[in-house]
Amino acid sequence: MSNLLEIEHLKKYFKSARGTVHAVDDVNLTIEEGKTVGLVGESGCGKSTLGRTIVHLQESTDGVIRFAGKDVTHLDKKQMLEFRKNAQIIFQDPYSSLDPRQTVQDIIQEPLRLLTDMGKAEIEKKSEELMDLVGIEKRLRMSYPHELDGGRRQRVGIARALALNPKFIVCDEPVSSLDVSIQAQILNLLMDLQDQLGLTYLFITHDMSVVRHISDYICVMYLGQMIEKTDKKSLFDKPLHPYTKALLSAIPTVDIDAQPERIQLKGEINSPIDPKPGCRFAKRCPYAQHCCHEPVPLTEVEPGHFVACHRVKEINQL
Ligand code: SF4
Repeated sequence: MSNLLEIEHLKKYFKSARGTVHAVDDVNLTIEEGKTVGLVGESGCGKSTLGRTIVHLQESTDGVIRFAGKDVTHLDKKQMLEFRKNAQIIFQDPYSSLDPRQTVQDIIQEPLRLLTDMGKAEIEKKSEELMDLVGIEKRLRMSYPHELDGGRRQRVGIARALALNPKFIVCDEPVSSLDVSIQAQILNLLMDLQDQLGLTYLFITHDMSVVRHISDYICVMYLGQMIEKTDKKSLFDKPLHPYTKALLSAIPTVDIDAQPERIQLKGEINSPIDPKPGCRFAKRCPYAQHCCHEPVPLTEVEPGHFVACHRVKEINQL
């Protein structure tokens, strides 16, 4: 399979009264067609900013975004409309991302009306197919978002994202605001849709159990930077970065005897405003030493397993 998305040295900075916020700072990422890359990290680490920058909800500060082999970093209006058909986003909170004055049918049909030359009958037919595809009962087509439960609202958001037959979807915490029982239904729906339609996902979450369920490959982000990247099995069997180890130690296991000791992170979080060179995790890292003040590149430590840590070999006795 070829890479559908390739990101090189992507940066997204914001000016603030106190300085420049390095929300996404020199990120490289590739996603193979038909696969799911899980992007994890604490809230505020830049993962949603990265997702929104990739689909051009905001412009990048620097770097390159390639989609299906084409450079899509800077797009004019016409190119943007074409890109929108291929790259969509599903948001965390379907309640705030859906227009409360529109019915389910209007919401799903809107991209078809605005971005295609389909006629009325064709649009009606397509929206019915989309409702079937995501499991929304037809009787709900004239309902408003506030009349639906959270799971159905998210299904409407998914149907709208699928309306233009995209190849790629950024799923930005799509189950975080749902009850646990509904979370599994939506995750399974997204996985079924991927199989049926050959979709490629960037799946953003702070929940390691969710990322384990859905991803093929996992990237861990910390304060705007990638600090560990590898396939799912390697990440869960043998996490190498101290921050990833702490994230994984917080996942409850069914077998209490097999529960690893929880690693509590202490120390203050570095500021993303004009950060100093060196490891951004240093203030919280139990292994920090003088060398950690030097810039720390993401390096292939084992085949296909990339880590940004000066002391990764000593810590893991590799
Ligand atoms: Fe910890 Fe240093 Fe590695 Fe950063 S570079 S994770 S501070 S040991």
